[in-house]
Formats: sequence, C-alpha cells, structure tokens
Amino acid sequence: MAYKFVDNYREQGARKKLVALLEGRGISDKAVLKAIGKVPRHFFFDETFWNQSYRDIAFPIGDGQTISQPYTVAYQSELLHIKKGDKVLEIGTGSGYQTCVLMELGAKVFTIERQRKIYDRTIKVLPGMGYPAHFFYGDGSKGIPTYAPYDKIIVTAGAPFVPEVMLKQLRIGGILVIPVGDEKSQKMITVIRVSENDYDRIELDTFRFVPLLGDQAW
Ligand code: SAM
Repeated sequence: MAYKFVDNYREQGARKKLVALLEGRGISDKAVLKAIGKVPRHFFFDETFWNQSYRDIAFPIGDGQTISQPYTVAYQSELLHIKKGDKVLEIGTGSGYQTCVLMELGAKVFTIERQRKIYDRTIKVLPGMGYPAHFFYGDGSKGIPTYAPYDKIIVTAGAPFVPEVMLKQLRIGGILVIPVGDEKSQKMITVIRVSENDYDRIELDTFRFVPLLGDQAW
C-alpha cells in the first residue's frame, strides 16, 4: 500500500461532516470532536478507498486488519476524560487510528498489539503521520507493568472479564474503559480506581469488538 499524506479540501470537508454526524449521535465532548476533526483518517486507507474513509463504519485496511468505527473511537475517548499529559495505556493498537485521536487529546500513549504483522505496519505508518506513540509488541491482556501506573487504560478488543492485573496498573483516580461480554456482544465498562483497593464500575452501551486474546483474555 502506498501512503500519500495529502489532506485536501475534499477530505477535510468529509471530516467536518463526520464530526457533525458524531455530534448528532450524542458525542458531546468538544475536545474529542476536535480531535476526530484533526486526524486524517484517509491516511489509513489505500487511495482507492478514500471515498469510504469518513463514513461512520469500521473498514478493512489490509493485513486482516480493520480500522475502528469513528463512533466507537469517539465514545471510548469521551469516557476516558483525557487531560493534557495523561499517561494512557492502549491495549490493541490495530491501525493506530484510536492512538492518533488520544494523542490529539494531549495524551502520552503507550500502545500494545499482539499481532506481529499489524504491529510492524502501524509502527511504520504512525510516526510518519506525526504520531510518535510508544509502541509495544506482545500480549496486552496483562497490561504493561513496567511503565505502570497509568492515568487511563483503554482496551479496544472485547474481553471476557475485567483483568485484575489491569486494575492494579491504574493510578488512584485513574479510569479503565473496556468492552466486556461474549464473542457476539460486549457492554462498555468503565472502572474508576477510587482508592488503593476500591473501584467504581459503570456498565454502559452494547458494542461488538474483535476478541481480546491472551493470558488474561479469551
Ligand atoms: N483501535 C484500533 C483502531 O483505531 O483502528 C482498532 C483495534 S482492533 C478493533 C483490536 C486490536 O486488538 C486488533 O489489532 C487485535 O490484534 C488486538 N488485540 C487482541 N488481543 C490483544 C492483546 N491481548 N494484546 C494486544 N492487542 C490485542
């Protein structure tokens, strides 16, 4: 795939329409909408499919990989309440689109992917686009203890349960956002670490993610 980092009026216009559509769907955090409005989602697509890149759908982008639906990215980002300088662990780098949105929100992102081909592709693409996250290859279902604690943790694949090991890597006051359920559907869960041993858990809307595979997962 050839990467042509050209952001012309047509794509900028399509991006504005996408932002308006997400606002209409209930995304109200202005910073999140602004971030979605900044990340050139068509850069993740082959030029042949640029006309699909600002539709509110997930889309296959090669190597068996799918770029997440913008609504899902905006929804999870909103729940994280990112503050500038937040240290965020993202589990499931995938295309890196969500990573870019988090970085536009001012987060310092540590992101981990377990599929080698996907990892190799994303570490080549993102820095060239101006998003130099900290990239890791491996099983993120155990988090990344070496760099803990994190202000926020986001899981972008469907988990069978909330891994205890992830909770322990949250700073007190930190937030974990994770879809939990079976293979067919998952509820979005946020967990806030209120003290050393206390957590508040909120269950939200239903989504369908690819499975989180690994030691603390499927
Ligand atoms: N957020 C991405 C985006 O913006 O396009 C899409 C993420 S995709 C829905 C989920 C990713 O999680 C896949 O690339 C998958 O390989 C990865 N994954 C699944 N289990 C994982 C694990 N235990 N550790 C790290 N990544 C994992």
